[in-house]
Amino acid sequence: MDLQRPSPAKSDEAGLPPAHGIPGSGRAAGETVPRRPVVAVSECLGFGAVRYNGQILQSRFVEGLRNHVEFVHTCPEVGIGLGVPREPVRLVERDGSLRMLQPATSRDVTGEMESWSRDFLTGMGAVDGFILKSRSPTCGIGDVKVYASEGGPVKSKGAGLFAREVMECFPLAAVEDEGRLTNLKIRHHFLTVLFTAARFRAARAIGALSALVRFQTEHKLLLMGYGQEPLRRLGRIVANPRRAPAGEVFTCYAEALGPLLRKPAQPGPVVNVLQHAFGYLTDDLSGKERRYFLELVEEYRDERLPLAALLAVLGAWIIREGVPYLEVQRFFEPYPRELLELTDSGLRTRI
Ligand code: SF4
Repeated sequence: MDLQRPSPAKSDEAGLPPAHGIPGSGRAAGETVPRRPVVAVSECLGFGAVRYNGQILQSRFVEGLRNHVEFVHTCPEVGIGLGVPREPVRLVERDGSLRMLQPATSRDVTGEMESWSRDFLTGMGAVDGFILKSRSPTCGIGDVKVYASEGGPVKSKGAGLFAREVMECFPLAAVEDEGRLTNLKIRHHFLTVLFTAARFRAARAIGALSALVRFQTEHKLLLMGYGQEPLRRLGRIVANPRRAPAGEVFTCYAEALGPLLRKPAQPGPVVNVLQHAFGYLTDDLSGKERRYFLELVEEYRDERLPLAALLAVLGAWIIREGVPYLEVQRFFEPYPRELLELTDSGLRTRI
């Protein structure tokens, strides 16, 4: 298995809770609790010259993450022995099923790619996010050309064979391609899910229900941004009325959290969260400040202002007023601020 897991960098406060044992949790103090998100990357994105033509690509976003995550990287096409350089492969729909073919050699490598991907992914341990190469018949997450026949026209678009397995094996992980990550909203969603998944994994590694209660408390506003009903559903799981063992409750919570975080939070519920938080601050704000903030909310609703701008204003007021309930909320800083970059490719989000 050609999994490459570089040693972690030294600075590692990535917004995750400290590693510690909880009395009665069945876990010893000092037991490994993840300290930074683990991100699996297509190897050709800055880690190795493994493309079919022997090239390596660079992604600014991947580069920028280096101090904040632990990377693992792999090239599935090299993994199944196609070598570098190699004749390109393509996806072809044949008799209603999707095949991965190498037209220059007439090889059908579908079975090899599917079983290699499954073996690799089930053996790779905890992963919080994937950054995969766009448009690749192996790694692409949704924009891969599917041909009507070996030499025929493009029939549709879909996900590559490795990416399909990724989405099946890691329902809680953040999954994106490097092209889509040039879009501000997609990047914000990806980073939010990535760091939230890592914090949940950290709570799960502690193993005590108190860690899940803390996770739910700190993510209350963030989860509210996905709607009131999903938040209530997660709250009912945490309340654990059946007194189920902690491991079972964590599993149940993960099964509800994964589908919830798959799509970005919508402006409507996010505006509700902003107004909810604002309600805790209004007594201490002047009439001018209140009017200014409500104008900003409308600009956000009309997509003329990024969410980050409102969070910065609210964050400053929360620091000034010292509201403990708001101070712990991950909604205001779901990932390290150094990763916030407001450039935008203008790509439309897939919502
Ligand atoms: S896109 Fe995937 S399969 Fe293709 S070179 Fe990159 S890592 Fe390898």
